[in-house]
Formats: sequence, structure tokens, C-alpha cells
Amino acid sequence: MKPAPFRYHAPTTLYEALATLAAVAPDDGRVLAGGQSLVPIMAFRLARPTHLVDINGVAELRRMAIVEDKLTIGACVRHAAFYREACEGPLGRLLASVVRHIGHHPIRTRGTFCGSLAHADPASEWCLVAATLDAEMVATSSRGARTIAAKDFFAGIMTTARAEDELLTQARLPLLPSDTRFGFCEFSRRAGDFALAMALVAYRLEDGAIVEPRVGVGAAEPRPRRIAQAEAALAGRTPGAEVFHAAADASADAVDPLEDHNTSADYRRSLVRTLTRRALERAAASEACR
Ligand SMILES: Cc1cc2nc3c(=O)[nH]c(=O)nc-3n(C[C@H](O)[C@H](O)[C@H](O)COP(=O)(O)OP(=O)(O)OC[C@H]3O[C@@H](n4cnc5c(N)ncnc54)[C@H](O)[C@@H]3O)c2cc1C
Repeated sequence: MKPAPFRYHAPTTLYEALATLAAVAPDDGRVLAGGQSLVPIMAFRLARPTHLVDINGVAELRRMAIVEDKLTIGACVRHAAFYREACEGPLGRLLASVVRHIGHHPIRTRGTFCGSLAHADPASEWCLVAATLDAEMVATSSRGARTIAAKDFFAGIMTTARAEDELLTQARLPLLPSDTRFGFCEFSRRAGDFALAMALVAYRLEDGAIVEPRVGVGAAEPRPRRIAQAEAALAGRTPGAEVFHAAADASADAVDPLEDHNTSADYRRSLVRTLTRRALERAAASEACR
């Protein structure tokens, strides 16, 4: 099938992009970033935008930089930019270890970090990273810019707090302390498929005890989120099998898993338990960051 007819706009400045989006958004005008989610759904006519605002010609949206204590990722930064460590320290390593789980290489060379956040597929690895690390999203329109915390940004399956005339111009990830340990684990039936569940954990040790624990779960519920009960099971404890099992059980008990014709809620809950435990084991096995 071919996409339904649409008008194509190719702004070269942010000002022009925002003005075009403001004009066409009420007529289902949409942003085109990497096109790796939008183009397939247009080809199946599951989406029929009347206008596409292609942001790939806006040079300032291609920037990635460290500003104060955050890695700022512009709207046109592609997944493949994270093959190399985007910054020194654990955050760069974390992003480089997660990126290879996103689809396949050709998708990673076109798809964008911010496009994934805007699309908000529950099984997006970058959405899980954003939720677990408490990222900030900058949504900009001709009315101005606002910063939205990850916990308020993801509203449900492919739904975010972004208004239709807002461009997600930037995502900001906090740099992680140099002794942060992290582990990521996901399960999909075939390599490159969207995951059925995934877990990302991070913590530090002080006097042998876990501090600042973060446990995030994705693909299991309509939106990725931190699991406070699992974090409470870790805080102040010494890393080890018993503590990791307790945190994994807390994760599994806390989620309200999605169900579909292939995957029951019970199966997803069981995946959440296993993946949380494995992510914690990976974090413990990883060398503390130098
Ligand atoms: C076969 C296949 C397998 C895949 N596997 C995975 C996977 O395992 N994990 C995963 O996370 N993803 C996967 N993807 C999706 C891929 O990562 C996409 O790149 C990503 O979801 C969207 O990014 P994009 O830049 O391509 O956005 P686009 O496809 O261009 O846009 C997606 C949506 O977001 C909106 N949008 C995009 N950027 C912005 C912005 N800056 N501001 C406002 N709105 C915006 C668009 O209007 C559109 O509605 C897969 C895709 C394919 C085709």
C-alpha cells in the first residue's frame, strides 16, 4: 500500500519549522524525523497526516552536547550516534549498551532518540532510559518552550504530554556519578523485534550498601516507569542474590502488565521478575565505573 496524499514541508530553520507546525498541526500535520515509525504506519494507512514537517534540514537540531550536568540530545540525533559513548562515564556506556537492542542497524542510522520519545511506544528502549533516569524533555512551539519531566511526559501507549503544535526539540539526560553501576536486560522473541518486557537498573554503593537505586520497567505496561517498591527493596541493602530476588519480586508485584493475543499478563509479569533480577545481576557484575 502507498501512503495517503500529504503535503511535504522542508524547513531549514527552527523558526520556520515551528511556524509551519503551528499552521498545519490542526489539520493533522506531523513532524517527520527519522521516519522509522511514521513512514511504516503511513504506508499501512494507519496514519494519514495531511502535512509532514521534515525537520532533518534544521542544523541546530542535530546537536548533542553536555550542558551543565546533563547530556542534551537534539531532535535529529540518530540512534546510531550512541554506538560510541556520547559522554565520558557511566551514562555514555549505558546508552552504548542499550542502543544495540533497538531494531536493526539501518533503523538505527535513521531513527532518532527524540523521535522515539515523541512516538512513545511502550516497548521503546529510549523511553525506558528517559523514565528510569528522570530525563527532561523540551517541547517548543511558536508559543514558547517548556520543560517536561519524564514522569509527566509519558501518558500512555503512544501518548505523551506534548501538544500537537509542539516540537520535541531536545531531551536532557542527567550525567551519572562516576561510580554508578547499571544493568539493562530485555526479552524479545527474535533479535531486532520489539521487546515483550525490559528492565534498566542503576545504583551506587556507599560502605557496601546500595544508594540511589533506580529500577525502571518498560514494555510491560502502557508506559515505562520507575518502580518505587523495587527501589525500596534495594535501598540501604548489600547487593546479593537475596536482595535482588526481593527487588525482582517487588517489580513483578507492582506492574499491571499489558496483554495481547500472543502474550498473557502472567507471562509478562514473570518476564518482569526475571529481567529485573538479571539487570541487577549485570549491574553487580559490571565493574564500578572508573
Ligand atoms: C522494523 C522496525 C523495528 C523497530 N524496532 C524498534 C525497537 O526494538 N525499539 C525501539 O525503540 N524502536 C524500534 N523501532 C522504531 C524506531 O526506533 C524509530 O526510529 C522510532 O520509534 C521513531 O523515531 P523516528 O525518528 O524514526 O521518528 P518518526 O518515525 O519520524 O516519527 C515518529 C512519531 O513521532 C513524531 N515525532 C518524531 N520526532 C518528533 C519531534 N522531535 N517532535 C515531535 N514529534 C516528533 C512524528 O510526528 C511521528 O508521529 C523499529 C522500527 C522498525 C521499522
